Parts: sequence; C-alpha cells; structure tokens
Amino acid sequence: MDRSPQALQALLKELEPVEGLDLLTATADLERYSRDAYDYSPVLEPLFRDCRAQLVVRPHSVDAVVAVTAACARARIPLTLRGSGTGNYGQCVPLEGGVVMLMGELRAVREIDGATGVVEVECGCLLKDLDRQLADQGRQLRLMPSTWRSASVGGFIAGGSGGIGSVRWGFLRDPGHLLGLEVVTLEPQPRVLHLKATEAEPLNHAYGTNGIITALTLSTAARVDWHQVSVDCPDWSTAVTLAQRCQQAAVELFLCTVLDRRIVAGLPAWSGPDQGCHRVLLLVGPDGVGTVHRLASSLGATVQDLGPEASHQGNGLRELSWNHTTLHMRQQDPSWTYLQMLLPQPELPLMESLSERWGDDLLWHLEGVRHAGGSRLAALPLVRWQGKDALEELIASCRELGAVIFNPHVITVEDGGLGIVDGEQVAAKRVHDPAGLLNPGKLKGWPA
Ligand SMILES: Cc1cc2nc3c(=O)[nH]c(=O)nc-3n(C[C@H](O)[C@H](O)[C@H](O)COP(=O)(O)OP(=O)(O)OC[C@H]3O[C@@H](n4cnc5c(N)ncnc54)[C@H](O)[C@@H]3O)c2cc1C
Repeated sequence: MDRSPQALQALLKELEPVEGLDLLTATADLERYSRDAYDYSPVLEPLFRDCRAQLVVRPHSVDAVVAVTAACARARIPLTLRGSGTGNYGQCVPLEGGVVMLMGELRAVREIDGATGVVEVECGCLLKDLDRQLADQGRQLRLMPSTWRSASVGGFIAGGSGGIGSVRWGFLRDPGHLLGLEVVTLEPQPRVLHLKATEAEPLNHAYGTNGIITALTLSTAARVDWHQVSVDCPDWSTAVTLAQRCQQAAVELFLCTVLDRRIVAGLPAWSGPDQGCHRVLLLVGPDGVGTVHRLASSLGATVQDLGPEASHQGNGLRELSWNHTTLHMRQQDPSWTYLQMLLPQPELPLMESLSERWGDDLLWHLEGVRHAGGSRLAALPLVRWQGKDALEELIASCRELGAVIFNPHVITVEDGGLGIVDGEQVAAKRVHDPAGLLNPGKLKGWPA
C-alpha cells in the first residue's frame, strides 16, 4: 500500500481530467467524510478519532467509479466507500487513510418490475427516495434501518443488518432479499460484473471490503397503509407478553418495539405523554388494529391508536425504534451506550438476572424480529458506560445466559457478527480486490 504524499499527488493529477468526478481536498471535507456515528461506542471513538482520508472523490457515473478504481489499483492506494456515513461502528472510516469515495451521486432507480416488484437501483439512492418511488407502484421496502431518511441503499446492504420490517422479513442476509449486484472490481483494468444472488451474497454486510457495489437488485413487498399503535403496559412482563402475542397473531406487523419506562421518559416530547409505563410501539396493518386492542385489553394494557402513519414527517414510531432509541437517550445523556443481541427463549430470566446486577444502568429495549422462520426478540439495551472492563463483563454475562451478541464495539465484520471468518467473503475479496485495497483493516479473514 502506498500512502505517500507523492503517490497522492500523482493520483490527483491522473484524476483531474476525469469527467463527472469531484475531487475534494479541503481539510474540513477530509475530516467530515472520514467519520460516521462511531461515537456511540466509547470503545471505538479513540480508535477512529484520528483516521483521515487523504483525498475524497465523488463520482457521478459508473464510468467515473471505474476511473477512480483503476487509478487507485495502479498506485496501490487504499480506497474506502461511503454512502451517507450513518453507520455506527466506523464501517466507512478509512483506517489506513487513502481515498474515500462518496457514492451518493449514483442514485437512479433503474427499473421496478411491474409484475414482481423487484427493483434495480443505484447504490447511492436514499432509502426514503427509493421507498417513495416504490409507493407509486404499490410497493414498499421490506427492510430499512431507522436511519432510512438519510441512509443509502448500498450502505444499508454493505453495512446494515435489519431494522424496521425485521419483525416480518427477518434480516438482510436471509436469502431472498438481495437478488443481484452490479460490482466494480479494484484492479488496474477494472471489470463491471453483474452478480446473481448466490455470487452477490458474500458482499452482503461485508463493509465494502470485497467489491464496489454500483447497483443492487432487491425484492420488495406489497405496500401497506401502516397504522401506528402505542400501548402502555403496567409492568415489564406484560409488555414482553403483549409483543410476543402480537407477533404470533394473524396480523401484519412492520414494527414491534418494547421500551422500558425509563426510556419512554427520555424520548422527545413529540413521542406522546409519559404515563410512567413500559411501552410497546407497533406498526400494524389497518385490519389488525382491532386485534391489537383486543390482545392489549386482555392483558390490562392501555392502547393509543395514533392512526395511519404520515411517514414523510420524521416524527413517527419508526424514529423511536432500533438505534433511534439509543440516539434519543444519548441526546439526553451521552454516557449511554448500547449492546445488540438475540435473546434466548424464554427471554425474561436473562433480563431479570442482568437488571438485578445492573439496576438503572441497564435499560431494556426490545425489537420483535423473525429469526430462522420463527418469532424472536432482539435486544438493544441502553448501557451506562462504566469502562471497557464493565462492558466486557456484561457481554460475558449475556453470553453465559444464552444471548447471541452482535457486538457494536468492534472494528471487523467478523467480530461484529458471530466471530467466525466467512470463507466466501474472503474468496470474493480475492476476486474483486486482489491487492487488498478496499477498506483495509475491516475484514479479519484477509491477512494484514
Ligand atoms: C441512529 C441510528 C440508527 C440506526 N439504525 C439502524 C437499523 O435500524 N438497522 C441497521 O441495520 N443499521 C442501523 N444503523 C446503522 C446505519 O445507519 C445503517 O446501516 C445504514 O443503512 C447505513 O447506510 P449509509 O448509507 O449511511 O452507509 P455508510 O455508513 O456510508 O456505509 C456503511 C458501510 O457500507 C459500505 N458501503 C457504502 N456504500 C457502498 C457501496 N456502494 N459498495 C460497497 N460498500 C459500500 C461502507 O464502506 C461502510 O462499510 C443506525 C445508525 C444510527 C446512527
């Protein structure tokens, strides 16, 4: 790898004449585009704080992407891709400096198949823009992060995992969501490849380490006019039981969030009055609202029907779910951080045991998800930062009690997942990035 100022100067000279390519060299741009939301993790913050791109480029076409890629490959300069930079583990932070490539100008929706709803879309398209265009055809996204207004579709596939919709559609890596990719290889003579679902899979959640995605083919769902329902529950076990009963009922759900009453108290005022209760937030199909009422009243919970979602406004239940809960709590008090896990069944014993030890420093936030075809609860608990040792003790206790941890305080793809090197991800890197220049340091299976 060559990160010398001379190599950078030569690269700049080579890229200046390229059509449809912006070159950004101002210090403020180099800083701004070398960061994401990694400060949610006090472990990662000091590790990423000083990482800087040496050059930022913004291509407006696939041809311009190819020109940048060829130049970086010839000069052996690291290249890191950036969608909207909303990742929260530093996925798009250039650990080794080099070039950061902003993918946001490649944003056309190329085709929506009228019969199947399958969409082909360029990587930089914002999820909100894609969802709006799908709505015109009676379709919607199956899965989206709570950052769906600002995040790009390419960044979601490469860096995200699931979110709103996971209660029905599981996770991004479940077969059937990603149907194909257009990929540019990082070679002196780059190739533009069209990968079918099986070949595309290793690039799904690989942090852009094993191929540059320029377009994606995704399945979609029939559009539903989601209704927002908020249910206040007198105790935690009622809230958990209600969420589970809703997940198991014959109603269509798009979101099922369970919040501890201390989190409800920390949410913005627009989220509704705090009655001192634990809360279940649901996006439910219009014909399921009555059933939710029935299930809630049988448990002694109080339903507030907020009516159809006006999702253009940015203050709906979506913005109180997934990591937006963490965002709101951190706005109140930045000493909150968080964890991510799939809870074992039954769920309550683990939560009770850990709450006993952690008290007010561990607040439960659950999300209903579909996992391996069944209804499960994932947890994104708020954790008061008390140092790395305390966090590691908590992670170890969760594992001992049967939770599967997806650690948001680590750098590599593997450590954030199940800790296992995925041979197919590494094999794809060998084919698409033989010199190992893409987002170096993030794929553990690739030797340094
Ligand atoms: C408040 C908050 C809430 C969040 N909620 C969720 C959630 O519910 N679910 C979830 O999964 N995530 C969530 N996230 C994380 C993040 O917002 C999402 O994963 C989002 O989809 C990332 O999109 P982005 O465009 O910002 O990607 P970026 O952050 O720019 O990039 C993410 C990764 O993708 C790579 N990448 C970007 N573009 C390309 C490309 N064209 N080709 C190859 N690789 C590429 C980058 O190098 C990086 O490794 C949340 C984050 C925050 C701060």
